[in-house]
Amino acid sequence: ARLSDATLARLPAGVARPAYDRQATRIGVVHLGIGAFHRAHQAVYLDDVLAHEPDWAICGVSLRSPDVRDALQPQDGLYALELLETPPRWRVIGAVREVLCAPDQPAEVLARLADPQVKLVTLTVTEKGYCLAGDTLDLSHPDIVADLAHPQAPASAIGYLVAGLALRRARGVPAYTVLSCDNLPDNGGKLRRACVLYAMQFDPALARWIDEQARFPRSMVDSITPASDDALRTRAADALGLADAWPVQREPYTQWVIEDDFAMGRPDWARVGVTLSGDIAGYDRAKLRLLNAPHSAMAYLGTLLGLESVADAMRHPALGPFIATLMHRHIVPNVELPEGMDATAYVDAILARFANPAVHHRLLQIAQDGSQKIPVRLLGTITHALAAGRAIDVLCLPVAGWLQFVRRQAQAGVPLADPLAARLADIGGRMQGNAATDVAVFVNESRVFGALAEAPAFMSALCDAYARVSTQLDASLISAVDPR
Ligand code: NAD
Repeated sequence: ARLSDATLARLPAGVARPAYDRQATRIGVVHLGIGAFHRAHQAVYLDDVLAHEPDWAICGVSLRSPDVRDALQPQDGLYALELLETPPRWRVIGAVREVLCAPDQPAEVLARLADPQVKLVTLTVTEKGYCLAGDTLDLSHPDIVADLAHPQAPASAIGYLVAGLALRRARGVPAYTVLSCDNLPDNGGKLRRACVLYAMQFDPALARWIDEQARFPRSMVDSITPASDDALRTRAADALGLADAWPVQREPYTQWVIEDDFAMGRPDWARVGVTLSGDIAGYDRAKLRLLNAPHSAMAYLGTLLGLESVADAMRHPALGPFIATLMHRHIVPNVELPEGMDATAYVDAILARFANPAVHHRLLQIAQDGSQKIPVRLLGTITHALAAGRAIDVLCLPVAGWLQFVRRQAQAGVPLADPLAARLADIGGRMQGNAATDVAVFVNESRVFGALAEAPAFMSALCDAYARVSTQLDASLISAVDPR
């Protein structure tokens, strides 16, 4: 039998389930990009909210593939969450009441967005889904060009957000709050500028209305959510005694920090463990530089070492200690933390999360989209260190690892998952192992290094790191931990 409202009562006693009457809930949230992370993070907080406030159930929208809808619709939107600890804990989440696939059901999606009962639109569409150029919308992005040709029939996230707001304005319905839950600094600010600039292209009065009436709070999300796989489906079937076509898994640790700026009211966030703060930038910076940067370091250096997961990387005799050293000695001194944050405790908590053997976070998943991740995760720390006159040799090792990773994938003919895939594959195909030429070609032609490309100290440190990563990776990791 399959998980659904009808079979919910058959769940074993150890499996937690919705603590409220699902039928009595109403959809108040539309989520764009209903991937694993949304269902393991925001939907879980909202599942807790629904126990007290019934108006915040979710309509999950996939902007691309019908896969999630096809998996969850027969299950009435129910799915299992596995909390990865020893032994694991299981919980069935009931917050998702409807799942739509936008390419198949554009009218239903627009109707939901225009629904006066909907007060909040959340997003996890990955960095690519914002179609940004730097800090604002890329008006030449093919998805944006296509949507601007007929804004009433959009396909992109920005196109849907604005089309929904246009319908509300036309119908006299108040603007909703748009809450980005993707990992990008100033996510709310970027989203506001993108929506306003997009609307400006065809309706300046709408653009002004959005700027004045809609809200775009910044937020910071943190909980490692490995992609779902068949092994998880098997574990779910065993734990539930019911089939679940798309369970999700995450580490027990979870954090959500939101700026308290909502247009039409909000759930009682504090009650369910969400932090409301005005310093999202501080939390973001800490997370990008102390959690995400070592992740990328493990992804590139770890795959070069033939490792598969974050926990494997932490167990590796050279890479594990390197990551701790990278964080404590090379990143912490170069990052400003939010008021009151204890750097040592924060780093140690992250190292413990990384080492959790129950989490199988695949390095190849983290390695995706390097061209967008490397600048925000690592290059800012390097820029800070250079300005402060500190050594950057160790900080350049993970960046060099990315260059090597791109080269290896390109030369093995493995497609890169990256918005700059074509450009990087071309560059990677031409890298021949000579550090000076490879690094110059990569830095100049990838165009992701910004002002660092003009910094001779960076270029020479990256060349050295690249040479060391290519020929003596283990030894250079060990000597970073224990410099002689
Ligand atoms: P996922 O692959 O399960 O889901 C990604 C979702 O984004 C899918 O619905 C996909 O269709 C959609 N998407 C991808 N490219 C898009 C585009 N160009 N336009 C519109 N939609 C697009 O991945 P996930 O694990 O759910 O992660 C999604 C995002 O959540 C990440 O990019 C990140 O910003 C954030 N996040 C994830 C984690 C994690 O541990 N997985 C942790 C913190 C934050």
